[in-house]
Amino acid sequence: MLIAKTVDQVRQFVKAARRQGRSVGLVPTMGYLHEGHASLVTRARSECDCVVVSVFVNPTQFGPTEDLEAYPRDLKRDAALLESLGVDVLFHPEPSEMYLPGAATWVSVEGLTEGLCGRTRPTHFRGVCTVVSKLMNIVTPDRAYFGQKDAQQLAVIRRMVRDLNMDVEVIGCPIVREADGLAKSSRNTYLSADERRSALVLSRAVFAGEKLVREGERDADAVVRAMRGVIEAEPAARIDYVEAVDADAVTPVTRIEGRVLFAMAVYIGKTRLIDNFIAQI
Ligand code: AMP
Repeated sequence: MLIAKTVDQVRQFVKAARRQGRSVGLVPTMGYLHEGHASLVTRARSECDCVVVSVFVNPTQFGPTEDLEAYPRDLKRDAALLESLGVDVLFHPEPSEMYLPGAATWVSVEGLTEGLCGRTRPTHFRGVCTVVSKLMNIVTPDRAYFGQKDAQQLAVIRRMVRDLNMDVEVIGCPIVREADGLAKSSRNTYLSADERRSALVLSRAVFAGEKLVREGERDADAVVRAMRGVIEAEPAARIDYVEAVDADAVTPVTRIEGRVLFAMAVYIGKTRLIDNFIAQI
């Protein structure tokens, strides 16, 4: 596995791969990898001749009071995992390699980024879209893999790729959970043992919502209310939002028809966690 620190190294690798007619898959990550990331890599490995995984804690997607400095990092462990999964290139640039002095260009998707996480994180998706665009331009992948765990991000990236005519297939992959239901996340490492137990309200709310829809509930507000009830029963949890939106347009819905995203962000202590499910009727 090549560990590339520079854009040029990645470009050279991809050029050589292309000359041999090999397809390229990209998995963008912020590292501190877990089985959720591994599921994306495994899927990419099975569908592409070459797999490039980026590990980059992207400063532009963190707000000024967010956890950029504290975000967990362990490149050695990440590299060992990626090597064992048969990855061809680990792209691990310094921020100064990705953002040159005087960088003045942003990629902003409007509308879809204003609700849900965009409300508490107003500059987050601009940072995500800018760095993902840059990675697409550097790697020029045939396919790029993203987790359904970050459902709004996936909808935003699909829209960006469509709107900017990026020649890449965006592949969404299911949420990977711990045995007890908690969605895997690098940020779960912030949780104390007590908080880890309290954090189970997110998946409990997801499962309760899914059950209602399975049993025939079609009133989105009734499902949201039930999910909120589950979370509010846990004193250590503070709701940022629980909402039902169209899964592609990220606009509020009242009836459950088509693809409806039930998404939530919940603070457990100081840690903000997200979870969701999609009801498809
Ligand atoms: P991150 O390193 O948190 O930026 O995540 C990198 C990619 O992995 C994103 O596309 C995430 O949606 C995806 N991902 C993170 N956690 C999970 C999970 N538990 N299940 C599936 N995909 C995930």
